[in-house]
Amino acid sequence: MARKARSNDASPKTETLPEPDFPNTGIARPEAIPGEDDRDQALRPKRLSEFLGQQAMKDNLQVFIHAAKERGESLDHLFLIGPPGLGKTTLAKVVANELETGFVQTSAPALDKPKDLVGLLTNLKKGDVFFIDEIHRLKPAIEELLYIAMEDYELDWIVGQGPMARTLRIPIQPFTLVGATTKAGVVSSPLISRFGITCRFSFYVQEDMEAIVHRSAGLLGVKIKPDAASLLAKSSRGTPRVVNRLLRRMRDFAQFAATGSKASTAISLNVVRDGLDRLEIDSLGLEKQDRDILRMIIERYKGGPVGAETLAISVGESVETLEDYYEPFLIQVGLLQRTPRGRMVTSFAYGHLGLKPPTRDTGNGEGFLF
Ligand code: ADP
Repeated sequence: MARKARSNDASPKTETLPEPDFPNTGIARPEAIPGEDDRDQALRPKRLSEFLGQQAMKDNLQVFIHAAKERGESLDHLFLIGPPGLGKTTLAKVVANELETGFVQTSAPALDKPKDLVGLLTNLKKGDVFFIDEIHRLKPAIEELLYIAMEDYELDWIVGQGPMARTLRIPIQPFTLVGATTKAGVVSSPLISRFGITCRFSFYVQEDMEAIVHRSAGLLGVKIKPDAASLLAKSSRGTPRVVNRLLRRMRDFAQFAATGSKASTAISLNVVRDGLDRLEIDSLGLEKQDRDILRMIIERYKGGPVGAETLAISVGESVETLEDYYEPFLIQVGLLQRTPRGRMVTSFAYGHLGLKPPTRDTGNGEGFLF
């Protein structure tokens, strides 16, 4: 509900919107492809020292972890906010490793009935890290159960039915809940208020992205030239998951180019340039679907404003995908704006697509740009 309110969809919904005209390749999409995280195990940082970037957040966490360990207490509950692929799951595991405790992982959609949560919580050992991904999707009954668990380390469990029903309080071990979300705006305030520490992820800066490329290349045993690493980092939307995925593809291209010859399988600048071209990823790291979204707003909606729902249908994506995966980066690089009346492209978007921004009539015969 709250999400709908946030999207400020001013455009009327219509039945006659055209079918999307393009397929979605998704190489640069920041969410995990099924099975990808398993393949990525080797690349996942295990300790805070290996977790690159997000320095201020890491420095604070280091202090909180150290203090909790010294007191022999569990760490305060931790709330992680940020777009997909930036390292929320990774950081949750890192925290467990630093605390030297167990790690139990689930996601809100997997918690269907209160007993699913009770089963997991009653099995936790003292100090364990309990990670719930997509915590904004918890069902109300489960969320309420979690409040008491987070606050009192107890569970309210109803036994019996009708007049015979009574509530049992079951003690559980003190634990640290790590809740992750891409949509902090739709998490209820009673839940938010129960987290003692909040970490907001930002897109990674170029320097940190390059460091991640070099680290991952080292772990994959593939050589990459500094200029190639720099271009790859620049084209990966400030997102570690994307850069790791593109690195694997560049390794394939380099290997393929060297097949049958004595050429090196190291990833060179040319390999990255060619590879990004083949994958239709441009100099800002946008893939075809990003550009199609911008082009759709320009060509069909005169640059906007257009409501999120209308836009999502036009480009063949769900509103969630549009809001969670595409928009944050388009907004971050200054190509798109969220306004109270809907989404608008910026003049930078016209320039990036090689289009001329329209001039708008001011009423006195002189046009102005935006
Ligand atoms: P999220 O949970 O936010 O969607 P993940 O924690 O699954 O993101 O991270 C995706 C991948 O990116 C991981 O497999 C990991 O290899 C890599 N990664 C994430 N953050 C970092 C980081 N700070 N340093 C190095 N690699 C990272």
